[in-house]
Amino acid sequence: MHEMALMAGVFEIISRYTADFPEKRVTKVTLVVGEMTNAVPEALEAAFEVYANSTNVEGAELVIKEIPLLARCTECGREGRIEKHMFVCPACSSLSMEIKSGRELYVDSLEVD
Ligand SMILES: [Zn+2]
Repeated sequence: MHEMALMAGVFEIISRYTADFPEKRVTKVTLVVGEMTNAVPEALEAAFEVYANSTNVEGAELVIKEIPLLARCTECGREGRIEKHMFVCPACSSLSMEIKSGRELYVDSLEVD
């Protein structure tokens, strides 16, 4: 499962942030997840539970902010959402599309108690 690998990276970041205060518990984790990562929110939640088990993150709320895949045509400048990974400009049929957003995967915020 692809999401397990993504979540491994997320927990590396969390453990780096919480290393200085190991007695604290993480209560909320907000993740920014771009559409292009192909991560399924339900699978991310399941992976989160697995990694949080028996750590200071156990029981924390996971909030997922999904970022749509947007691209800009370098030929005509049209900007829009890419559906089904079809990197073709709907205005001029150019294949020269520059990705503006959707590749993100990072920890946006952590709340500790
Ligand atoms: Zn175009």
